[in-house]
Amino acid sequence: MFRIGHGYDVHKLVEGRKLILGGVDIPHTVGLLGHSDADVLVHAVMDAMLGALALGDIGHLFPDTDDKFKGADSLVLMAEVVRVCRENGYTIGNIDATVIAQAPKLAPHIITMRENIVRVCGCDISQISVKATTEEKLGFTGEKLGIAAHAVALMTKI
Ligand code: ZN
Repeated sequence: MFRIGHGYDVHKLVEGRKLILGGVDIPHTVGLLGHSDADVLVHAVMDAMLGALALGDIGHLFPDTDDKFKGADSLVLMAEVVRVCRENGYTIGNIDATVIAQAPKLAPHIITMRENIVRVCGCDISQISVKATTEEKLGFTGEKLGIAAHAVALMTKI
């Protein structure tokens, strides 16, 4: 009836890249490095959904050696993950995600991130939780070297 999954992702912060989180283009001095748009939040959420159904991870589904996924909009990839989950008989029960970033302030963008995920997943806003925290200037997120995201997904049988 229910399946639970966990996702974790990290991307490095570099100059000359956009900062895309939950499909929101956030004005900042640095952005996340990656083969796709490097949307670390959406990547963690996708891995949680795939993990719940023991379907591997996004690296397996969308290899970074494939030019097709270069600069890809992660929300488009997420639509494919949702489709694969449905094909396997499961839909989203709820998702809870945490973005770990020292800067910039993410609170003003959280609602738009949730709305973007809701639009792609075809569920209700009450099913998608996104939170943001810092690690009190400790470690690689605290030193602003990168941004990390954790997510858990509860998938329910259709
Ligand atoms: Zn990633």
